[in-house]
Amino acid sequence: MTDAPIPSRAPNETPADDAIVPFAVESLDLRGRVVRLGPALDAILTGHDYPLPISKLLGEAIALTVLLGSSLKFDGRFILQTQADGPVRMLVVDFVSPGKVRACARFDPGHLERAIADGKDSPGELLGTGHLAMTIDQGSGMNRYQGLVALSGGSLEDAAHEYFLRSEQIPTRVRLAVAQEYSAYDAADPAGGRRPRWRAGGLLLQFLPAKAERMRGPDLDPGDAPEGTAPHAVAEDEAWIEGRSLVETIEDVELIDPALSSERLLYRLFHEHGVRVFRPVDVLARCTCSRDGVRSMLKSFSQDDRDHMVENGMISVTCEFCTSNYRFDPAEVADAAE
Ligand SMILES: [Zn+2]
Repeated sequence: MTDAPIPSRAPNETPADDAIVPFAVESLDLRGRVVRLGPALDAILTGHDYPLPISKLLGEAIALTVLLGSSLKFDGRFILQTQADGPVRMLVVDFVSPGKVRACARFDPGHLERAIADGKDSPGELLGTGHLAMTIDQGSGMNRYQGLVALSGGSLEDAAHEYFLRSEQIPTRVRLAVAQEYSAYDAADPAGGRRPRWRAGGLLLQFLPAKAERMRGPDLDPGDAPEGTAPHAVAEDEAWIEGRSLVETIEDVELIDPALSSERLLYRLFHEHGVRVFRPVDVLARCTCSRDGVRSMLKSFSQDDRDHMVENGMISVTCEFCTSNYRFDPAEVADAAE
C-alpha cells in the first residue's frame, strides 16, 4: 500500500461521548461515521424507564438514527420509525440537524413479558414483522422523502443493510452496541452516582467509489430469468470486501468502551490503509416540543375533537418523547381565539 495517505497526526486518545466522528479511508473509497453516546443516551433512556430489553433496543435505534441523520447536508429532520407486530409496536427516533435527538417506544407489556419468559427477546424478536420507515424532512415547503424497508425478524443492523442495498444501492455496513455501565461514579448525582448508565456506540461504513459500476454486488434476484437459471453473480469489489471485513471484526465492547476514543477505534481498524477524520459533531438529547407547538396542534383539531379532550375544564397534553405536560384553557385554543 505504497500510495496510502500518510496520517498527518497520531489518533486523539481522549474519548468524547455524545459525538459523531466522520471519517474517510480514501485508498479504499470508504466513508463513514462513528458515534459514541453517553449522557445524552442515558438521559433519554433513564427518563423513559422502559423495561431493559426495550431500552436496549431503543438505544440501538437511537445510535442508528444519529449515524444516518448526521449525513444530512442541510438543516432538516430525520425520523426513524418502526411499526411491527412484535412486543415493541413502535419505535420513533427523531433527529434534528446538526445533532439533537429524542426518542420513544410503544410496547405491549403482556406480550413483552411472555417474550422474555420464553427467551424470545432478541432485537429481531422484540420487533417482529413489519416495516422500518426513514423520513427526511427539509422543513416548510420542501418535499418529504420516505424510504421503507421490511422488518422480518432481523436486527436493526440487518434492516439498515437491506435498505441501503435495495433503495440506495450503496454497499453499507452498520455496527451498533448498547450496554449499561456500572462503574461510573458521579458525585453530583442525587442518587449517589451508583446507578447503571446507558452507553452506546455505532459505526457506519459505506463504499462510495468514483465509478458507480464498482458498487455492484450480486443481483438481488433472478428476475424474469427462466427457472433453473443460476443467479447472475458479480464479484464484490476487493476494496469493499476489505472494508466490510474490517468492520465485521469490531466487537461490541470496542464500540461502548468509555476509555477507547473513536479515533483510536478507527486507527485500529484502518491504520494500514490510512484513515482521515473530520470535525466531530456533538449530539444532544433535546426534545423539540413547545407550548406554542402544542397550541398550534390543538388549534388544527376540530372543535369537536378538542371538546372530547377537556377534563376538569382543561385540555392536558403530555409529550410522548420527554413527558413534558402542557395544560390549556379550552378558550385559548378555540377556533375564535387568536
Ligand atoms: Zn417533548
